[in-house]
Amino acid sequence: MKIEEGVALSRLTTLGAGGPGAAFARPESVEELEQALVWARERELPVATIGLGSNLLVADQGFDGLVLKLGGGLADVQVEGARLLAGAGATNAVCLHRVRAAGLGGFEFACAIPGTVGGGVWMNAGAYGSDWAAILDRALIVDEQGPRWLTPAELGLSYRHSELRHGQVVARAEFTLAPLPEEQIKANVARLQALRKAAQPTNKRTFGSVFKNPEHELGAGRMLEACGLKGYRIGGAQISPRHANFIENADGARAADAVALMVEARRRAAEQFGVELVHEVEFLSPLELPPLQ
Ligand SMILES: Cc1cc2nc3c(=O)[nH]c(=O)nc-3n(C[C@H](O)[C@H](O)[C@H](O)COP(=O)(O)OP(=O)(O)OC[C@H]3O[C@@H](n4cnc5c(N)ncnc54)[C@H](O)[C@@H]3O)c2cc1C
Repeated sequence: MKIEEGVALSRLTTLGAGGPGAAFARPESVEELEQALVWARERELPVATIGLGSNLLVADQGFDGLVLKLGGGLADVQVEGARLLAGAGATNAVCLHRVRAAGLGGFEFACAIPGTVGGGVWMNAGAYGSDWAAILDRALIVDEQGPRWLTPAELGLSYRHSELRHGQVVARAEFTLAPLPEEQIKANVARLQALRKAAQPTNKRTFGSVFKNPEHELGAGRMLEACGLKGYRIGGAQISPRHANFIENADGARAADAVALMVEARRRAAEQFGVELVHEVEFLSPLELPPLQ
């Protein structure tokens, strides 16, 4: 397995912003993954895994560590009976295609989530009333302690959250689904995709929802819309004119532009609604939102 230097991480994210990673590797098996972790440990480098970069904001300075992107046997997809067995680097789109062909339902919600199986485990991705926790049996986690299988409860999955930390890599995941005719699955997916298209920017470079929905009658999008933020722009980034909980790369956005928009959005939500918004997007260091005044 080759370790590359100075790979542009912006190319690996859906927003298309951010600096380079100091080192980069594509492990294709659990053994290669363990070798990569040892390589980083010997050099005292932090490790982060990137899926499709669809929930990720990489700092303009880049990441001074080892970035992993899983491939080969860590991105394969098999269906056995009612079970989906996937490498964590497999995309949700490929998984959905395979389970649909096998007549297994319950994964349709993921048609709206442009990520990988591992990214879904990391933040318990979900949409339309379902999430990873609802269908996941167990995930194979690899870190300095070696590989071990963990259940959703052991992973601490809750709303857009797991207890996983950088340096812990999701290598594989296994799900149980339910038999459903292929035509029914297709119809479910078409309905969910139409709902998504009507409400969110689907043809722009974004990282999905910026903030988690707060405990409030308004979701984060409606709240920021009420703050007058739709279309608000800083540098090359703008709050989507279509859905205020999305930030679009309007023209050469830097991570700093996106962060400045997030700071302004949090300030206004706190001022107008007394709500402290918490970001859903994951940061690849050294990024941080300042505390609210
Ligand atoms: C248009 C759009 C719509 C979206 N809609 C939704 C939605 O409806 N619901 C939803 O939940 N999300 C949504 N998202 C966000 C995103 O697609 C999901 O969070 C997705 O699960 C992220 O997966 P990823 O593979 O792209 O992860 P990345 O963005 O690459 O990474 C996200 C985090 O997971 C970690 N990670 C990724 N893979 C691994 C691994 N194998 N092992 C350990 N850590 C890993 C990364 O280090 C990072 O901290 C949307 C995004 C976009 C752009």
